[in-house]
Amino acid sequence: MMSCKQATELMSQEQDRQLTFFERINLRIHVLICDACNNYRQQMSVLRDACKRFGSGGTP
Ligand SMILES: [Zn+2]
Repeated sequence: MMSCKQATELMSQEQDRQLTFFERINLRIHVLICDACNNYRQQMSVLRDACKRFGSGGTP
């Protein structure tokens, strides 16, 4: 079972590189049972969407 620190580190690495199968499974399990990391992950995807919108493309 990974710690919250490891889980959040993997979530940020996920933006830059492809996680291994083992890392993805462990992260998924952790997020399923950990509310804090589940929230963190959702906020991260909202932020990423916002960045995309304000970044290249999208804005008129
Ligand atoms: Zn956690």
